[in-house]
Order: sequence, then C-alpha cells, then structure tokens
Amino acid sequence: MVSSSAPRPSATDQAPPEYRAVPTAGTGPVDSDGEDSAGEDSAGAGAGRRRRSTGENGRSRRLTYPPAPEPLPLPVLDNHTHLDFHDGLVEVGVAAALDAAERVGVAGAVQVGCDLASSRFTVAALEQDPRLLGAVAIHPNDAVRYAGRGELDTALAEIEALAGHPRVRAIGETGLDYFRTRREDAAPQHASFRRHLDLACRLGKALQIHDRDAHDDVVAILREEPEPPAVVFHSFSGDGELARLCNERGWYMSFSGTVSFGNADPQREALRIARRDLVLVETDAPFLTPHPHRGRPNASYLIPVTVRSMAETRGADLAELCADLRANTERVYGSWQPVPVGRTT
Ligand SMILES: [Zn+2]
Repeated sequence: MVSSSAPRPSATDQAPPEYRAVPTAGTGPVDSDGEDSAGEDSAGAGAGRRRRSTGENGRSRRLTYPPAPEPLPLPVLDNHTHLDFHDGLVEVGVAAALDAAERVGVAGAVQVGCDLASSRFTVAALEQDPRLLGAVAIHPNDAVRYAGRGELDTALAEIEALAGHPRVRAIGETGLDYFRTRREDAAPQHASFRRHLDLACRLGKALQIHDRDAHDDVVAILREEPEPPAVVFHSFSGDGELARLCNERGWYMSFSGTVSFGNADPQREALRIARRDLVLVETDAPFLTPHPHRGRPNASYLIPVTVRSMAETRGADLAELCADLRANTERVYGSWQPVPVGRTT
C-alpha cells in the first residue's frame, strides 16, 4: 500500500504537513489522564480525548510533532494506536494520520478502543479507511470505573456487539494494571480480563494485553483460561524471563517506543531473546514516543524510529526485520486487504 511515487520527507526538523496545521482555538477536548486510559464515555463516539500537556514527572512537554523519519525499506503495520486520543497543538484526522504514516512505510494500523466511546469510534473509523483494522475492549483501569457504577456487564455486552464487525480482529486492550489501580482494587480487573479472554475465544479473535506492573498475575490468568487464537503483549514491558516464556507459549511481543528508552535494558534483552516470528511493533500513540523524541506527541509515522532501534538491538538487517514484522502482524490480525470497507466479509 506504499506508493513508489510517494514524496520523500525533507531532512528538516519539520513534522509532516498533516501535523503542522495551525491549532484551532477553544473547542478541543479536555485533558484526560495520561498513558492509555481513563476517558469519559459521555464524550461520545469519536469526540476524542486529549493527552495531558505535562509528563509523568509533572513537567510540561514539548507539544510539537517530531520530524518524519526516512521511509522504511519495506512496509510495516502499527498494531496498536489510539487515533481518537489527541495530543500536540493540532487535531489530526484518521485519513491524514494514515497518509503521513504511509509515506514513511507504515501501511496501516490497528486502532484500539479502551472504553465504550473509543470502541465505538474504532468501529466508525474502520468504516472510513481500509488502512485500519480494529480492537475493542474495556481497559483494565476503565473496568474498575465501570464496575464501580455497576455498568461492567452492560459495557461488555456492547463490546461483544462491536467486536462482531469483520474488521475488528482483536479484543483489547484488556489485562491488568497495578500502576494506576491499587492491587487491593484489582478484583474487577481480574473479572474483566477473564471475560475478555472468553470473548476472544468465542469470537476467534486475537487478544491484546495491557500488562503494567502485573506480569505474574497476567501469566497466571492466561494459564488458567482457554487460549484465544493469538495472544499479544502490547507495549511489551517484560524482561528476558517473560520473553522466554512467550517464546515457549507462542505469545506475541509487541514493542513500542519504550524499547528505545535509556532505562529499557530489560526490554532490550527481551527483544534480543524474542523469537523472530513473535515480534511486533506499535506506537501506542499518542504515548510512548521513541527516543530521541521522548515526551513529544507520538503518531504512526514515527514507527520507523522504533523499527530502526529494534533492528540495531537485535543486530538484524532492517529490511528483513520489516518483512518479519509485517508477516507476523498479518498472521495475528489477518490481512488488511482485500475486504472493501462496508462489506461484511
Ligand atoms: Zn494503548
């Protein structure tokens, strides 16, 4: 899907044109709790949420988008992004985000829902652009929120209905998060994770796991429950030991920009150990922007920065790694082609 006539990006520090527009005043969505969760479904499908303008250290971040990297030699796919979650000084639409990605060799993406609003957005976006596949779920931190209101059952029923769309190819992101939710409050997360696992099995779809500070319990639940056709650890945060277990079990490891961070030696060890047929790449945009752009807004067009860092860590040929990444991604989610948008199989 990458056109050979696509213009090469300039060598300046400028973001792609889609990410350079002058901001519109006043009407943007409000700040939402960062890192991947905690939206308000009252915002409505596609209304979007905005990443905080301060980092986890409380300091303000640079809100301009990084420059476009050199295109990859072969196209890859971003298997985890949040196009409804805005960051930076501009709001970029679905098609514009995918255009910028396509010019640097990112042929498509998996748009991931975290709650009802973003899962509804996901299905609407799939109808708009054939470069997208989707995943829908209630994020573990949102599961606590829904359960607290007695609405988890209703929410999961709607997730199941949305998951019936033929271009929704995964249930996710689900899992456990002991960073934002206290371990004592984890019971709703456990229940929700098990029900998402059951849903993935019944529908025959892949499972995207959010595992933050919860490796042992995630693995324990995976071992207890029936296994879906594919299991993906999104933004893999484990070490060599977890990578060895993934190799044994055939679980996929999806690496994000965090693998390029200075403090990520354990993840780099995992990346070196990971079987080449189990490695995936993702942005988790607008979060987890790869080095040297850490803290700035992230988007699928920055995948080449992460892929080059991965090739260096693995001592792999860049083109071979790209070919592996694409083949692995399509093994998990199926082909992005050729089902035309709007057709039901
Ligand atoms: Zn995510």
